[in-house]
Amino acid sequence: MTSHPKDERTLVVVKPDGIQRALIGEIMKRYERIGLKLVALKMFVPTEKMIEEHYLLDPRWKKNVGEKAIQSYIRKGEEPPSSDPIEVGNLVVERLKRYMTSGPVIAMVWEGAHAVELVRKITGSTEPRSAEIGTIRGDFVVDSYQMADGADRAIRNLIHASGSVPEANKEIPHWFGPEEIIAYSVPHEAILYDVDMKGILG
Ligand code: GDP
Ligand code: MG
Repeated sequence: MTSHPKDERTLVVVKPDGIQRALIGEIMKRYERIGLKLVALKMFVPTEKMIEEHYLLDPRWKKNVGEKAIQSYIRKGEEPPSSDPIEVGNLVVERLKRYMTSGPVIAMVWEGAHAVELVRKITGSTEPRSAEIGTIRGDFVVDSYQMADGADRAIRNLIHASGSVPEANKEIPHWFGPEEIIAYSVPHEAILYDVDMKGILG
C-alpha cells in the first residue's frame, strides 16, 4: 500500500548558530505556518561521529560537495585546496564536524504533503549570500563561500534540511528512534487534506 502524500517527513536541524542567534522560534514558525506538523523534537550537543555519519549517509554526497566547493574556489579565481573532489569533500566534512559540535542543536521531524521540498524552499539555498530574501537563510544570515572557505570553516547557514525524500528517509532514523516520533492529528489537517469540504455548514 502506498502512503498518502501528507505522510511525507523531513529532518530539520537548527545548527548551533541558529540557537546562538535566538532564531529557534522564528525558524519553527515558518515551517509551522505553511501547515506542516512537528512530529519529533530534541535538543543536544551532537558528537563528531554522529555528524560524520550523517553526512556520509549518502555515498555520493562527499564527491558532490567536493565538486561544488572546487567550482566555488574557481569562480573566486582561487586555487582549490585539491583538484580531487573526494579530498575537498573530506575537508568540508571536517569543517562540518567542528561547526555542528560547537554547541547544542535542535533536531526536528516535520510532516506533511511535500514536506521535503517545502522545507527546502522555506529554508533557502546553501549559501546565505545568494539565498533569496524571504527564505530563512536569505533573511537572517550574511555568510558566503568566500568568507567561509577563506577562514577554513563551514558555511554558517542556521539549518540543515534533508535534500530529497530518500535522504530524509535515511537521515530521520539516524537522528531519532521510532519511539521518539509521535503519530497524532491536528484539526487543520481536515481542511488541508479534505477532498470535498463537506461538514462545514450546519
Ligand atoms: P545544504 O543541503 O544546503 O545544507 O548543503 P550541502 O548538503 O551541499 O552541504 C552541507 C553543509 O556543508 C552546508 O549547509 C554548509 O554548512 C557546508 N558547506 C557545503 N558546501 C560548502 C563549501 O563549499 N564551503 C564551505 N565552507 N562550506 C560548505
Ligand atoms: Mg545537504
